[in-house]
Amino acid sequence: MVLEQAKAKAIRWLEDNRGLVIVVFCLPASFLFDLFIQFRIWLDRKLSVTTTHQHRVQKIQDQVTEWSKLPASEKKPLCTARPNWLSLSTTFFDKKKCHQVPIDLHDVLSLDEDNLTVTVEPNVTVREICKYLIPKGYTLAVTLEIGDATLGGLAFGVGMTTYSHKVGLYQEAIVSYEVVTADGKVIHVTDSNEHSDLFYCLPWSHGTLGFLVGLTLRIVKVKPYVHMKYIPCHSQEDYCKKIMELSGATDRDTKVADYLEVTIYNKEEAVIMVGNFADVDPRSKAKVNDVCWFYKPWFYKHVETFLKKGGEEYIPLESYLLRHNRAIFWVLESMIPFGNHPVFRAFLGWLCPPKPAFLKFTTTQAVREMTFAKQVFQDIVMPLDTLKEQVDTAVKLFDTYPLLVYPCRIYNHKGGAPQGQLRAPPKSRLVPGTNYSMFNDLGVYGTPGPVERREPYNPTYAMRAMEKFTRDVGGYSFLYADIFMNEEEFNEMFDMTLYNQVRGKYHCDRAFPRLYDKVKPEIDVIAIGETYAMKKDD
Ligand SMILES: Cc1cc2nc3c(=O)[nH]c(=O)nc-3n(C[C@H](O)[C@H](O)[C@H](O)COP(=O)(O)OP(=O)(O)OC[C@H]3O[C@@H](n4cnc5c(N)ncnc54)[C@H](O)[C@@H]3O)c2cc1C
Repeated sequence: MVLEQAKAKAIRWLEDNRGLVIVVFCLPASFLFDLFIQFRIWLDRKLSVTTTHQHRVQKIQDQVTEWSKLPASEKKPLCTARPNWLSLSTTFFDKKKCHQVPIDLHDVLSLDEDNLTVTVEPNVTVREICKYLIPKGYTLAVTLEIGDATLGGLAFGVGMTTYSHKVGLYQEAIVSYEVVTADGKVIHVTDSNEHSDLFYCLPWSHGTLGFLVGLTLRIVKVKPYVHMKYIPCHSQEDYCKKIMELSGATDRDTKVADYLEVTIYNKEEAVIMVGNFADVDPRSKAKVNDVCWFYKPWFYKHVETFLKKGGEEYIPLESYLLRHNRAIFWVLESMIPFGNHPVFRAFLGWLCPPKPAFLKFTTTQAVREMTFAKQVFQDIVMPLDTLKEQVDTAVKLFDTYPLLVYPCRIYNHKGGAPQGQLRAPPKSRLVPGTNYSMFNDLGVYGTPGPVERREPYNPTYAMRAMEKFTRDVGGYSFLYADIFMNEEEFNEMFDMTLYNQVRGKYHCDRAFPRLYDKVKPEIDVIAIGETYAMKKDD
């Protein structure tokens, strides 16, 4: 009893002083951890320069072939050997239950400036491809604002950015995949060759259909800066209406901006960001703002200042693309509540953000359960015309701000026939005269209001209600985050028709875990949610 009380007090102290704990222990440790990881990656690359891509892929094929010769009783399902903690997913898939195959593929392979494509190995990160492409005058058509995300992870998970209202999800910018199948063969998968069925199922497949060993992505020509216009909105109706218009959701001929995003600060107040590639006239240099410098305010805090009165400025392109990296969108605020203070930024800002890999590496079972129960990380794709209901539902269930909104096209590729895990949008929702509908990512990250206020909160109830709403409006939960659906509900949200066919055709059934089994949380989220809901804070 006494021990229990002491433990509860210690936990409360850690919660109340989490910022201090993170600054004193986690930031320096995360910095050293990152140096070590960077050194290891550098060493791996130095060692691999003597080998060709074909040679590296052959090694992976050989391992799959060796696995296939194992007796059935020793054959565990295949997965990559990339440690869980290196991945950005919030779940911890138990790789010990699998036969792990190292995928040591970190190189940019070629740039085709005539056809505007770049071919890469899957472990190239967003930061690396920015450094490679931007000086040459290009960027990926779709990327993500987190520098450590890998191009392969985005391909087999999902990627979306503020350019997605023009081109759709990351998968729409993939020209071809190079895949090692369960039979140990290497195949090139495009939307028009004999593997086109697989082409449509690889996105959102999370490595359950084969190993990704290469991919060719569309790039776009860019200018060195992004001209940003910040438009304040003071009513829900206003931002919902404006974003429909600005994204081209109401009229396909609307001249849309290159980048478009909304940050919602409370139900009625939001800032819409409209960005366009730009050159900077030396006379207007005063308006250039490199938002990524460690001493600058966190990006979403900077944007919030435009609520009073709109404004405009130029941001260097790379800084624009990684603008949310330093505060991990706004996740850092719940870790270091004073992290945006100018004094903190000036002295310790350069240590931020703590590496997601470090945070995951040091996550114990108890911390995992507590963060899942007391925080929310969700990205959900839903039809943009339901934005008002999305915000109302998220606010009712989680009561946390800001909320992130990125408009995004979802295409009907096959006239309504199965086209992978995402269904074709209904005809009634297509932008008139096109084969796409305008959806949006709703990003909900942070500590739910009731948890902040120490009021009763049941994460299981909240998450399941959000998932039900998502299914009802024909949306999809990103699978990097915890899901609370049972398999039946999962199969209702995602279309598994083509996926199941492809699993048979490419002999995946005994080789790779099924999608639901791969992405469902490794902990019993329902039971833990109920336990935390009943726990009384003392
Ligand atoms: C706070 C936060 C905000 C986010 N916001 C967004 C957002 O706005 N938009 C967005 O698109 N995403 C967002 N994400 C999610 C992020 O895009 C995903 O986690 C994504 O999967 C990339 O992460 P990763 O490179 O670590 O991939 P991983 O998690 O490592 O990989 C994704 C999946 O693919 C599998 N895989 C990876 N490589 C291979 C391979 N070579 N062969 C076979 N299987 C493979 C993995 O096993 C895993 O199941 C956010 C994440 C966080 C934490």
